[in-house]
Amino acid sequence: MNRRCARPGCGQAADTTLSYAYAQQIVWLDDLVGEDHPANHDLCRRHADRTQPPRGWELRDRRQEHGVTRLRYVS
Ligand SMILES: [Zn+2]
Repeated sequence: MNRRCARPGCGQAADTTLSYAYAQQIVWLDDLVGEDHPANHDLCRRHADRTQPPRGWELRDRRQEHGVTRLRYVS
């Protein structure tokens, strides 16, 4: 596994995969998935933790280290 953070100028090793469900307006954060998919973005820990969903969207953090799924809402 040798994937890099997708944020410009970052270049840190990715450990999180970010994906979108446009129909449901959900942003998912998952532990880095084994399969690289063009609709997903790989992020390093720092950028994953700073991810903010678009207005009206829901961010669901499914990374295992947190133990439970955290929900964050932006009004
Ligand atoms: Zn990064």
